[in-house]
Amino acid sequence: MERLVTVEEARFTLHETRAVGKTPVGFVPTMGALHDGHLALIRQARTECETVVVSVFVNPTQFNEKSDLDAYPRDLERDAALCAEAGADLLFTPDAAEIYPQGFSTTVTVDGTLSRLLEGTFRPGHFAGVATVVAKLLNILQPDRAYFGEKDWQQLKVVERMVADLNLPVAVVPCPTVREPDGLAMSSRNTRLSPEARQQAKVIPYLLDTAQDLLDSSNREMPTNLGPVLRHWLLTLLESHQPTAEREYIAVVDPETLVDVNEITDRALVVIALRVGGVRLIDNRMIRVRAEVSRF
Ligand code: AMP
Repeated sequence: MERLVTVEEARFTLHETRAVGKTPVGFVPTMGALHDGHLALIRQARTECETVVVSVFVNPTQFNEKSDLDAYPRDLERDAALCAEAGADLLFTPDAAEIYPQGFSTTVTVDGTLSRLLEGTFRPGHFAGVATVVAKLLNILQPDRAYFGEKDWQQLKVVERMVADLNLPVAVVPCPTVREPDGLAMSSRNTRLSPEARQQAKVIPYLLDTAQDLLDSSNREMPTNLGPVLRHWLLTLLESHQPTAEREYIAVVDPETLVDVNEITDRALVVIALRVGGVRLIDNRMIRVRAEVSRF
């Protein structure tokens, strides 16, 4: 696996890669502290692409709290070993000055509900940071396919919108969320959980799974305001199971617009952001009206 540090090196190497026909090129952007969730993206890219490039860049502009940026786990040598093991051909690890040189002044913003709601409410400017860095990385590397986790569903939708709106010649490939055996979504932030907070965090997959159970059991009636009803049940469950968890949001939304849904006719996305033991965790799950559950 070759390491690329500067934009010039990355451009040159990717140009050569394309010139000798080692395409399609698959790209997996990450902020490092790699875990099996990231590695699943790299492995999927490996099965679908001739060349796989991974980036590790802790993007300062998408953090709203300096303490969160400072506390973000970093171990480049470990990440490089894991990338190589998972089958990456190229690893791009620019530093902040390479991506944001003196005088840098351009921001890519995706307007509307996709950026404004949920994460957008609690992390102002976050998606502008994400969209800008992803646009830059896609321009530098010019991959054919770019892999993003459904764990960060809203980010996936923002990136899809940005790629479509700017006519970027890349296919955005969504990848399923990888979970710990007890259901907690893998996240670089999980390493910051105390043993007690790690136990408390289990309430998140519990609520997401229960949302599907509640949908199944309410199929007989299907009230037109099932979205708010489900949300209310989930809030009550959170309060009884983990009253100390700090809730940022729990919502039942349209998966494409992220707007709260009332009626659930086919599917809806349950999204959760909680702080447990001072660590902010987000997760989501698609819930579906199941045909096999009898309705009358
Ligand atoms: P990050 O390093 O957190 O910016 O994540 C890099 C990419 O990995 C993003 O596309 C994330 O959505 C994805 N990712 C992070 N955690 C998981 C997970 N548990 N399962 C699947 N993809 C993930």
